[in-house]
Amino acid sequence: MALMINNNCIACDACLPACPNQAIFEKRSEAEASRFHVSAAQGHDNTTYVISHERCTECVGHFNEPQCASVCPIGDCCVPDPACPESKDALLERARRLHPHKELRPAVGW
Ligand code: SF4
Repeated sequence: MALMINNNCIACDACLPACPNQAIFEKRSEAEASRFHVSAAQGHDNTTYVISHERCTECVGHFNEPQCASVCPIGDCCVPDPACPESKDALLERARRLHPHKELRPAVGW
């Protein structure tokens, strides 16, 4: 499933450059202005970063673990989004759609 950013986010900016899919936005309103859907649980007061499930692949295709969760200094802000259950195959298909010219690989251990 795609990840989401919860209310523990301090908007430190660590995750933004780490995402290989440009799935993270500083504000919910910014994502929506770019026409990317954000799940209901995220960023309603525009003070926390948000992840759009339309671009998140859990880093599948690029890395073996979600990079946003790895770099987050708080540690528990970037979590699976229960509103967006998806298989690893669906996530890899999305990664391929987002990066048609890049060689992507399934995660180790599939
Ligand atoms: Fe981006 Fe990966 Fe985090 Fe999804 S899990 S938002 S693709 S860094």
